[in-house]
Amino acid sequence: MVVLTSKSTNTKMVNKISFLIAMLILFSNCQKGPHEKYDLLITNATILNVHNGEVSSGMMIGISGDVIRMVEKMKNLKKYNSSNKFDAENKFVMPGLWDMHVHFRGGDSLINENKNLLPLFLSYGITSVRDAGGDMTLSVMNWKDEINDGTLVGPNIFTSGPKLDGPKPAWVGSLVVETNEDIIKAMDSLESLGVDYVKMYDGSLSKEAFYGIVKEASKRNLKTTGHMPLAANILEAAQLGLDGSEHVFYALKSCSILPDSIFQVNNGRGVLGAIAENYEPNKAREVFEELGNNDFYITPTLEVMNVLSDVAEKDHSQDSLLSFIGNGIISTYQGRVESAKKAAARGGKNIYMDMLALSSKYIPAMDESGIKIIAGSDSGAFNSYCYPGASLINELSLMVKSGLSPQQALKTSVINGPLFFDLEDFYGGIEIGKMSDIIVLEENPFEDIRNLNTVSKVIKNGILYEAGEFRSTLKALKLKNLE
Ligand SMILES: [Zn+2]
Repeated sequence: MVVLTSKSTNTKMVNKISFLIAMLILFSNCQKGPHEKYDLLITNATILNVHNGEVSSGMMIGISGDVIRMVEKMKNLKKYNSSNKFDAENKFVMPGLWDMHVHFRGGDSLINENKNLLPLFLSYGITSVRDAGGDMTLSVMNWKDEINDGTLVGPNIFTSGPKLDGPKPAWVGSLVVETNEDIIKAMDSLESLGVDYVKMYDGSLSKEAFYGIVKEASKRNLKTTGHMPLAANILEAAQLGLDGSEHVFYALKSCSILPDSIFQVNNGRGVLGAIAENYEPNKAREVFEELGNNDFYITPTLEVMNVLSDVAEKDHSQDSLLSFIGNGIISTYQGRVESAKKAAARGGKNIYMDMLALSSKYIPAMDESGIKIIAGSDSGAFNSYCYPGASLINELSLMVKSGLSPQQALKTSVINGPLFFDLEDFYGGIEIGKMSDIIVLEENPFEDIRNLNTVSKVIKNGILYEAGEFRSTLKALKLKNLE
């Protein structure tokens, strides 16, 4: 089995892995003979190429261990030998989805409930997740290792470990960074944990500390993304080496004609409404182009804004998806409902609705200017009713609603996910030498993105799973816990 370690963002390490995989393929090709043997042979598949939109029917795929060894047009099956066969006639086969913004969090008492969600991601065809910071890093690192060596069933996990924030961090478990010394200490600690990238948060992080983290992380070859202090400038940060931005606010801020002085004194979300109102399309074009030229990633997280935009008035108590979520996590959902109700009672503007409208409007322009849009749901404890799994499908549907084609939307997950971690040689296609993280669908998502809801089978670590079985197990588990 090929194990991509937690240090997989390190280019040298990735090159070494590429070399090993190349050798492995070369070796296996040398052994090709009249009776090749695979662990799993998929026949009659219609393969969807998410990269270029091609649809190839009548294909067969040979998998050994967790690597794709053969992709060919159907021919004499007698030539091929396999321990397990699956006939994918009238079905669509594509690489697994990546949810690039999830959270494992909620404190020690919720560690098990978070762990129980891992198969739920798989049941929706999500074979990789990027954890965007939480408070159970050691457990997440353990799950990651166990999934890699096949002792735990779940998606590949890439994690930032704890978030970096200022002296009054917004989230429990964050590392506090104020001075240069703090930056070095925090980076040493993240490196010793073996995190995959660095996530920053703008609870109280200063502009100086933010820039300092970006510079130090670049020096150490660690990717950076996150929220950013509103006093900071996204173009300046991108030039210093910032790789990406979570949510669209920060890019949109630079497209507003509001004077910078407003952001120097007001570092809160209070100004987000003003950003929406003072938006300048021409400025936006320039900003997007420059970010696009800087190889920049933006994770819009539309679905969480969509859910939060009406969370004060919508009754979610009968949502069928609640049956997969532990009661401890469900109880964390109340916080955002209460604050939304208070905001509505004060008669404040619905910022989430404004931001969703604006973000959606500019997604095609960002995509055209070369910014790499990444699909991330922001599901996790405290993010009310943004359900793990289903929320990524909704995210991709919202991207299509905003003007991307279904194939372009799928690229934000299947192609841009691995690209963020420089892992495009190993993921994102049904090709020889790539990892066999594969999903089987009853209907074609290139035709209608909602067809992602028809994922029926998932291949992970070389094993073929029924997607529906994950969900029945989870439901049963919850009922058992309620007894
Ligand atoms: Zn988040």
